[in-house]
Amino acid sequence: MRSFTYDQLPARVVFGDGAARTALASEVDQLGARRVLVIASTRDSARVAALLAPLGERVVGTFTDVREHVPLATAEAARAAAKTADADLLLAIGGGSTVGAAKAVAMTARLPIVAVPTTYAGSEVTPVWGLTEDGRKTTGVDPVVLPRVVVYDPALTATLPPDLAAASAFNALAHAVEAMWAPHRNPVSTAVAGEAVERLAAGLRTGDPAELLCGAWLGSSAFAVAGSGLHHKLCHMLGGTFALPHARTHAVVLPHVLAFNAPGAPEVARRLAQALGTDDAVAGLRALADAHGIPRGLLALGLPESAITGAAALTAPAVPADNPVPVTEETLVGLVRAAWSGSDAV
Ligand code: NAD
Repeated sequence: MRSFTYDQLPARVVFGDGAARTALASEVDQLGARRVLVIASTRDSARVAALLAPLGERVVGTFTDVREHVPLATAEAARAAAKTADADLLLAIGGGSTVGAAKAVAMTARLPIVAVPTTYAGSEVTPVWGLTEDGRKTTGVDPVVLPRVVVYDPALTATLPPDLAAASAFNALAHAVEAMWAPHRNPVSTAVAGEAVERLAAGLRTGDPAELLCGAWLGSSAFAVAGSGLHHKLCHMLGGTFALPHARTHAVVLPHVLAFNAPGAPEVARRLAQALGTDDAVAGLRALADAHGIPRGLLALGLPESAITGAAALTAPAVPADNPVPVTEETLVGLVRAAWSGSDAV
């Protein structure tokens, strides 16, 4: 067995249908908070208002101007809102962008976060923050941005449009699959990732939001420990440099990265194939993606062909040295071209 170092991440998780309605007030009280800044977009304001009712006067402010990839101006506006409200806790209700805005505040104000995710993005269990300035995305790790409590309520994901739900679930699957070959994996993260793969594959087949949300939690927890591998390095670069949509990019790219890495990661392919009920993980994943209407290539997301060589060149230096299949800039051009065109060849 490889040697490893394992820092278990602290987290309190409350999971259940209706948990956002019933558990929030007591979770806030247990953290000793009295002045809550709510961070939630206006997308679902009536539902958010209903969730906040039990908190009563503990809610002292609301920040709604949530943007994907947390532009610096959004971070600064959210920080100002926390200061004006004299908040002692941040309550984020929404997808990864909303949790990202709360993390941007926590970074500087050192406030605890309670997160209520409404997608399968998984940011709520990672200590990773992201900010975008002048079109360049920067990420970093700070334990202070890891939410103290996560309330998972599958009922909140029911409003996701089917295409976004599928893309987000594939984003979660990407966390789980990558965690099994990522550089800091250990026996715990691999076991958790394997369970995540099972639940996400089942959830993608049946549409059960509880399976999907539980799988998303497990997959992202494993990924938070195991770190980024080829898939995330590539998707992060594509999202940051070419402004591609987060979850959909992961969904399109995952089968291509799996096809590339599978020959060097037979155990990962075996786990995934088993979860998908097939002999061939790559074919099984492609079939599942097709069934959910996920495009085969990034061409469909608007990536120009001229971006291929640049994308490969920018990604190559960031790929971990122990990627299951050794990576060169040339082989990466092949992978990115396949991910762009939707071809099965890598
Ligand atoms: P998102 O939060 O941007 O949400 C996508 C869209 O879905 C938005 O329009 C949102 O309003 C809507 N939406 C969210 N929940 C919904 C629901 N239940 N019903 C209907 N509509 C809903 O997208 P995301 O994929 O959740 O998050 C992406 C962002 O999160 C990216 O910026 C990504 O970098 C970041 N992220 C960070 C980490 C981390 O560890 N730091 C991990 C994963 C994602």
